[in-house]
Amino acid sequence: MQQNFREAIEDPIFETIAQAAKALQIDCYVIGGFVRDYVLQRGLPKDIDIVAIGSGIELAKQVALLLPNKPQVSIFKNFGTAMLKHNGIELEFVGARKESYHRDSRKPIVENGTLEDDQNRRDFTINALAISLNEANFGALIDPFNGRADLEKKIIRTPLEPAITYSDDPLRMMRAIRFATQLEFEIALTSLQAITDNKERIKIISKERIVDELHKILASKKPSIGFALLHKTKLLPYILPELVALQGIEEIEGQRHKDNFWHTLEVVDNIAMTTDNLWLRWSALLHDIGKAPTKKFHKKIGWTFHGHEFIGSKMVYKLFKRLRMPLNDKMKFVQKMVLMSSRPIVIAEDFTTDSAVRRLVFDAGDHVDDLMTLCEADITTKNAKKQKKYKNNFKLVRQKIKEVEERDHIRNFQPPVSGEEIMRTFNLKPSKEIGIIKDAIKEAILEGEIANEYEEARAFMIKKGLALGLSQDNV
Ligand code: ATP
Ligand code: MG
Repeated sequence: MQQNFREAIEDPIFETIAQAAKALQIDCYVIGGFVRDYVLQRGLPKDIDIVAIGSGIELAKQVALLLPNKPQVSIFKNFGTAMLKHNGIELEFVGARKESYHRDSRKPIVENGTLEDDQNRRDFTINALAISLNEANFGALIDPFNGRADLEKKIIRTPLEPAITYSDDPLRMMRAIRFATQLEFEIALTSLQAITDNKERIKIISKERIVDELHKILASKKPSIGFALLHKTKLLPYILPELVALQGIEEIEGQRHKDNFWHTLEVVDNIAMTTDNLWLRWSALLHDIGKAPTKKFHKKIGWTFHGHEFIGSKMVYKLFKRLRMPLNDKMKFVQKMVLMSSRPIVIAEDFTTDSAVRRLVFDAGDHVDDLMTLCEADITTKNAKKQKKYKNNFKLVRQKIKEVEERDHIRNFQPPVSGEEIMRTFNLKPSKEIGIIKDAIKEAILEGEIANEYEEARAFMIKKGLALGLSQDNV
């Protein structure tokens, strides 16, 4: 059955591409994500893939010639592809190809092929839909694998034998799970089985590609779908063994702890409802990883995870390094969130002093709101009464943070008395006393002994200096 998809290609750029192909006397088609997302009404595309039955590079050059602004064409000779930007959208051109694979590489042997060959090499039926840009059937949908029906049934299925598809290019296992998460589709049972059977082949995929897919899973509306599938297919131990170690419930003498893997997935889904910050979502995913290595059972108090925040933040570094993720301020942010993840809970349980709040704001700095967002997402109790109580407690903590902040300005703390002033006052050369005094001033402010302002801090500095046996020259 051929259906007309003329409406999908109303943008004048498709007419231009069609003219360029006609001039070169080759056929071409829009294929892949653009067609899929048009059917799903997923909004404007970021990129459009064009497949030419012939040279994709020549077609791209011809299209650029026909466009009034003559955009630059980026050519990737090794891949036989070319790209140009038009109205902020990337147009990718590729020649139709037939692929065959070697067992130890995801790089195929490539030959020129027909449209059918090219559709055969696509990962999923929903990604193999093509729309003709040729005069004879402009706008016709070419859908040899019933991708259209799969879009309606919300199912991810491979055009060819799944075992071969996933073994040829194991990245497709990640892509299947990522699409299942982004689109909230089911993966066909035969596919799920083939992924499970081929899980070990994920080893030949570069960490960068894997992390790309993890980012996309985490950025989805309900990331738990992806992590549950990674778990179910047993891919997770190859990617994030730290999470696998959280799975399971142990019971000793009738005392059980919660399953921290499934708890974590709930936390990630919760935080996805309140923030798009990818690194805060990573923080939610990793916030409890220190619980596996710190778990202990004590006869009197039951299960404990002492110091799991500290151990967890150390594990973040190793995990980022192993996955070749950036070891930069993003990683430090995740470490900080993991390290501080229990701090607001302690405050929520005991409101007696402002100093704990001041210390929290001092340590979290600009990230204090993110930390509160993480803690709120961490509430996964099914007990409605407790749920309400915990939420309310954090509301109070947020309120308290606001009050303390308005009064004491602890966020981005700047010492009210400078090191230079301390040196001048006591006629000191750079020495450890200066650090001691500065630290004492900071501590006095956080403890609430003095206000965070110059006069009180200066008086405190003099008192402290004298106590240290220093003499004042300029007071
Ligand atoms: P998105 O851009 O939203 O990630 P997409 O489907 O456009 O989704 P791309 O990575 O841009 O994904 O790839 C474009 C098209 O190329 C896909 O729709 C699919 O047909 C094909 N494709 C991409 N990666 C693979 C792969 N590993 N194996 C087979 N086909 C692939
Ligand atoms: Mg795309």
